[in-house]
Amino acid sequence: MDLEKLQTTLDELRQPTYRFKQIKLAIYRDLKEEFDAIDNIPQALRQKLNQALPFDELTLKSEQKSRDGSGKNLCFTQDDLAIESVLIKHGDGSRTVCVSTEAGCQINCSFCATGHSGFKRVLTQYEIVEQVLWFARTLKTTGEKVTNVVFMGMGEPFLNYDNVRNAILLLNDKDGLNLGQRRISVSTSGIIPGIERFGDEDWQVNLAISLHAPSNGLRSQLMPINRTYPLEKLMSALDAYVAKTNRRLMIEYLLLGGTNDSTRNADALADLIHSYKEVLRLSVVNLITYNPTRDSDGQWDKFRAPRPGALRAFEEILTKREIAWTRRVSFGGDISGACGQLAGEVNSEE
Ligand code: SF4
Repeated sequence: MDLEKLQTTLDELRQPTYRFKQIKLAIYRDLKEEFDAIDNIPQALRQKLNQALPFDELTLKSEQKSRDGSGKNLCFTQDDLAIESVLIKHGDGSRTVCVSTEAGCQINCSFCATGHSGFKRVLTQYEIVEQVLWFARTLKTTGEKVTNVVFMGMGEPFLNYDNVRNAILLLNDKDGLNLGQRRISVSTSGIIPGIERFGDEDWQVNLAISLHAPSNGLRSQLMPINRTYPLEKLMSALDAYVAKTNRRLMIEYLLLGGTNDSTRNADALADLIHSYKEVLRLSVVNLITYNPTRDSDGQWDKFRAPRPGALRAFEEILTKREIAWTRRVSFGGDISGACGQLAGEVNSEE
C-alpha cells in the first residue's frame, strides 16, 4: 500500500482524519490482505477504495519453500519488474526477512547473480516494506511473526538511501510493523557517503559491510565499487562510524574457494582490521561460504565453495589473531535463497 496515495484518496473522499490510521493499522498490525477485509470501515468506503487504488504494491507470483524451512518469494511490481525476498527460519524461533531495495543492482559484483541480471530501478519504501508484509501474512497463519529484517537482498541500499530510510522508519513505526530498530540491519557494498549519513542517524539500526577481500587488488576484481571507494578510505569511514555511534559493525566476508580463502588472505584481513582501532574494538567478521549458482543457460559460474580444510584454517588464523568472527549458516541453498543468489532464476523464467 502506498500510504501517500491512500491519504490523497481519503482526502478526496472527504473522510474523517482517523480513517487513515484505522486503515494503516489494519494493514500493518492486523495484516489484512484487502480493503474488503477491513470491517471497521463502512462498506461503501471499501468499495470506493477498491476502485481508487490497489491494496498491494507488489503481486506475489510464487513462493518457494526450502527443506530447512526457509522460503523465497518472487513478486512483481506494478510496472512488471521481478524482485525476490527471502525468509530465514532460525532454530531459536527468530524469523528473518531479507529484503531487496532495487530491481537488479548497479554494483555488479563478480560473484553475484543479482549483479549479472542488470539494474532496472530503485524500489519505493512501500515496495520494500511490502516484501516483509507478504511473509508476515504467511507466518501469521501459524501464529508466528517476523522478528528481524535485513537489507541484504537485491540492490545496494545506500544507492536508494531515502526510500530505505523511510522503509526502516515504517518498519519501526508503532502503527507500522513495530519492529525494534536493533532488529533491523542494513548491508552495504561500501558506499562511503551512505555510511557517513547512516552514522548521523539518530537510531539503533545495525550496519554491515560486505568486505569480501583484504586488499585493493582482489577487492576491485570482486567488487568494482572498490575502484570508487578504495579500502583505505572505506576502512577510515567505518572506523569513524564506529567511533561516532559506538555500534557494533558486521564485516561480511564471502569465502570463494581458491580466490579469497587462503591463509595469506586471512592474515591480511586480520592485519587490515588491526590497523583500525575502532573497527577492531567493535566489529565481528561474519564468514559466509559461497553457494555456486547457474546462469540462465544452466552453466555453473566461475566461483566455487571453499574446501572445509581451507575454511578451518581461515577461522584458526582469525582466532589466533584475536579477531571476533562468526560463521553464518547458509540457509535456503536449495532454493537459491542464500547470499548472492537472488534474481538469477527469476530472469531465466521469463
Ligand atoms: S552483492 Fe549486493 S551490491 Fe554486489 S551486485 Fe549483488 S546485490 Fe549488488
